[in-house]
Formats: sequence, C-alpha cells, structure tokens
Amino acid sequence: MEKNVTVGILGGGQLGYMLALAGYPLGLHFRFLDPSPQAPVGRLAPRVTADYGDSVALEKFANDVDLVTYEFENVPVEAARLLERRVPVYPPPRALEAAQDRLHEKQLFTKLGIPTTEFAAVDSAAQLENAVQRIGLPAILKTRRLGYDGKGQWMLRTTADIEHAKSEIGAAPMILEKFVRFDRELSILAMRGRDGETAFYPLVENHHRDGILRLTLAPAPRVESALQRPAEESARKVMETLGYVGVLAIELFECRGKLLANEMAPRVHNSGHWSIEGAVTSQFENHLRAVLGWPLGSTATLGCSAMLNLIGEVPTPADVLGLTDTHLHLYGKALRPGRKVGHVTVRAGSPERLATRLAELPTFFHRDEFCLPAAFAQAAK
Ligand code: AMP
Repeated sequence: MEKNVTVGILGGGQLGYMLALAGYPLGLHFRFLDPSPQAPVGRLAPRVTADYGDSVALEKFANDVDLVTYEFENVPVEAARLLERRVPVYPPPRALEAAQDRLHEKQLFTKLGIPTTEFAAVDSAAQLENAVQRIGLPAILKTRRLGYDGKGQWMLRTTADIEHAKSEIGAAPMILEKFVRFDRELSILAMRGRDGETAFYPLVENHHRDGILRLTLAPAPRVESALQRPAEESARKVMETLGYVGVLAIELFECRGKLLANEMAPRVHNSGHWSIEGAVTSQFENHLRAVLGWPLGSTATLGCSAMLNLIGEVPTPADVLGLTDTHLHLYGKALRPGRKVGHVTVRAGSPERLATRLAELPTFFHRDEFCLPAAFAQAAK
C-alpha cells in the first residue's frame, strides 16, 4: 500500500484551507507553515508558526512532508529554494520569483509575445517624469513587489498627482503602467501536471470594488473561442517557459475584443473558487493532482456560477442555505473590514436563471456593491 502522503503548504490562509478540504477525500495529509498563530488552517491540520525566513523551522518542516507547495505568492524565494534541496517544491521557485515582481512579470509576458499593458520601470522619483513622458497620462504607478488588492498603487491623472506620488514613493522600485480603458476584467486558470499535461478552465469575468474582488461569473458571459484560445495559449507559454507544475492564474483586461495580461499568480486563485461546485473538478483538487503527479481532472463546467466574496462580515448560515443551489464557505477568520472571510457560490442551469437568482439575493449581499453586469441585470428583469 502507498504510504501516507503529507503535503506541506507555505501559507495558512483560506486558499490553504480549501486545498486541505479538497485533499482529505484523496487520502492526503497536510501540514502548514505560516508566521501568524491565527492562521485559519489551524482548525484543519498541524500548523507550524514560524517566519518564512526561519531556516531551522523550514528544515524541520521539510522532515515532516513529502512535497511542498504554496498558497501565498509572497513567500521568499530563498525559503522555497531551501526547501527544494530537501523535497520537491511545486510550482518551481522561479515561478514565484517571476510573479513577485511586476516588472519581471511584464517583461516575461513581453518576451513570450503575450500582449500586456504598456509599462516602464521607475527606480527613483527622478525617473518618474521620464516614464510619464514615455507612457503618457493617465497612468498607474505601482510598487514592483508586495502589492495586492490594489494596495501600493497611485493613479496619476495630472502633474499634481505626479508631484504627490514623488513625495510618497520613497526608495521602493516601481513600475508605471498605462491606464487601460478596458471593457471588462477576465481571468484564466490553467494547470500543468508533472508530465507536462495541461488543462484550462473557461475564462471568467471579475468585478472589483475598492481593489477587492467582489464577484466572479463563470464562465464569463459572451466569450468566443477568439478570446478563450489566446488566453489558453498565453498561459501555456508561461507554464512551459517556467517548467510550471500546479494551478496558475492570469488576470486579463479585455479591450475591444483583445486581451491584455495584467498579472499572474502562481497558485490557486480567488477567481477560481466557483469551481468547487461549478466544475467537474475544483481548482483545489486539480492543483493537488498536478503537484502530486496524478492525472488532471476535467475542467468542464456544471451550469453557470456566480461567486460572491464575503468581505468583513458573514451572513447567518440559514439565510444562505435556504436559497436554491447556493453554497456557503466560511474560512474561520476573525471579522475585520475589508477582509475576505468567506464566499458564496450561486449556481444555475443558464445565464438567465443565474441572473434571476442573483437578483433575488437577500439584502445582506448588498447587490449594488457587486455591480451586477448590465447584461445580467437586464436578463433578471
Ligand atoms: P492589480 O493589483 O494589478 O491586480 O490591480 C488591481 C486592480 O486595479 C485591477 O483589477 C484593475 O481593476 C485595476 N488596474 C490595475 N492596473 C491597471 C491598468 N494598467 N489600467 C487600468 N486599471 C488597472
């Protein structure tokens, strides 16, 4: 009999939580490493509380696991490399390295012929003027590293904004990006197994508010193969170049029928949570299948899904569970404003039925905040 397999996960947030929930039915064991003693995975599996830079804790962690993956893309690359000397680490640390720096990420897209936003490196406040001259206004100035959910970003529309940004940016290396007047935001979740097998979920449509994802529609309405195919090709090129293993997410802007890559995440992704109920195999199970060298599962959809993030507050479970084909996920995190504490997936057999179901959601869901797309709102009337 095959011995018990223990998967080590760096990061102990909700993505790790849902990876473990997908892995238990497959007979897997889990162990987590996270700097926070409050990491929600503590309810599910042994959790080591240690800094990612603590090489003694990392060595000890490697002794207790058969392979390592991550659910957080800002794990220091050195930690992943240290672990890689002891156990297999997937996705490969160089994928972490590429995704942690917005400049390197966009340079990689450009090198691979993947259309992306116009960009320029800004290494000092003095360089900002030059970059603005090249890119033009409006533009967005972003920190190259450690930005998430719209944090570490400055919108530049006027010369006053440039002066203000100069006074704020300090020494951190930055990237200036042209402001894209996109029609909508999409993402593709792709995966590659240890043997090079690839699979792709359909493009999904994402709606943000205050930089935080609120709503994902899966599959994205009105997607032709003219969009799906290039999105898959872009993801395939990135995965092949990096020798990638696991799930990879690429966030895209759709502009007049063309796609521009915005950024990628070398991990399971919030815009893939719908796949737990809305696809034959969830992104979490497929990530585990990929890193373990098992066959990938079907990415076919089961009807249409809408995933609504719960931000800062959670509904009374009974109020959600009474709704048709509506599924509640609570992450066991402390409630704080702006924090993702759970999600709800609503499923239906057609886009029209899904629209009706979304229109009937109770007031708790603040539907006005989910900026229901016009096409959906109309179908629900
Ligand atoms: P990011 O941290 O790069 O994912 O950016 C957060 C959000 O800001 C994106 O989901 C977009 O809504 C918006 N955004 C980022 N970059 C651009 C851009 N170059 N042009 C227009 N909007 C952007």
